[in-house]
Amino acid sequence: MKRYIRKNILELEPYSTARDEFQGGDISVWLDANESPYPNGVNRYPDPHQKRLKERVSQLTGVAPESIFIGGAGSDEAIDVIFRVFCTPGKDNVIAIAPSYGVYKVAAAVNDIEIREVLLNEDYSLPAERLLAAADENTKVMWICSPNNPTGNAFPKEEILSLAAKFDGIVVVDEAYADFSEKGSLLSEIGKVKNLIVLRTFSKAWGMAGLRAGMAFSLPEINEYFGRVKYPYNMSSMIQEELMRRIEEGTSDHIPEIVSERNRMAKALEKAGCVGRVYPSDANFLLVKVKDADALYGYLIKNGVIVRNRSRMPLCSETLRITIGTPSENDRTISLINEFNNL
Ligand SMILES: *Cc1c(COP(=O)(O)O)cnc(C)c1O
Repeated sequence: MKRYIRKNILELEPYSTARDEFQGGDISVWLDANESPYPNGVNRYPDPHQKRLKERVSQLTGVAPESIFIGGAGSDEAIDVIFRVFCTPGKDNVIAIAPSYGVYKVAAAVNDIEIREVLLNEDYSLPAERLLAAADENTKVMWICSPNNPTGNAFPKEEILSLAAKFDGIVVVDEAYADFSEKGSLLSEIGKVKNLIVLRTFSKAWGMAGLRAGMAFSLPEINEYFGRVKYPYNMSSMIQEELMRRIEEGTSDHIPEIVSERNRMAKALEKAGCVGRVYPSDANFLLVKVKDADALYGYLIKNGVIVRNRSRMPLCSETLRITIGTPSENDRTISLINEFNNL
């Protein structure tokens, strides 16, 4: 795996925090980190390695703690760290499917990395041959979002695994929406497939978008470098505590409800006159092709409902992406769309 890692990162001497240098012992006076000695709940630095939290996440996922990275700016932090670990600015490139999550492109641009976007097939399936053909000797990473945002579909696991077997580089599978999908997860492949990184987040199914916590899972040989590149204290002690508390409580389990609402809403929208197509979804949103997306988008806003207009994304002309809300929010949206149709 080492050959995919940037040379300067391989040679990097990571910042050693006061808490890294201290190993064990029975300390009652902490004068090593220039903290305030006066307790107020947050006067001490947090654990830079999030050891207890990673143990919790390990119990939750079955992945060993040494294979877990946790970002305090959500999985968006993991995306940025992946660019910084593998890609040399101005030289390397990455491949991504299109349309997909916009952050890959922004993070590529920030890091001065070329991103080669490969259009999905017309039916939103994975263009495996074209993805592989887009690679050259400077291609380090391939970004696959599954279930994909904004198309909503998950790609078959075997297709992604076959891509990973053929691709000479790192395959990142962003599974932000996997909890809503019946097509499963690649988390169980961590440790078996060497060049695989799986991203997960607490922002969607776990209902904690406000906390900002995301995860990357990979072999310890890769994960070690994430630990070196991240900011030493990238997650506050309050968030670590809060996450552990909430993980212990379990997901509030709105997942079955959201999935059944998604299916109900898909059926209802298919009947609306202005709706051309509701794409199959493995996520907590629906991509809907409509007669006049800009007009419907404006009409919904005028009535207090905001959705995402994805019409300007490739292969997505005249589409809106609608997040699944509560049953009453969904009812309201369905009736507004029917009403628009009869205007
Ligand atoms: C929402 C989303 C995320 C989550 O990002 P966070 O920074 O963890 O909130 C990641 N990937 C995709 C594709 C998403 O849609």
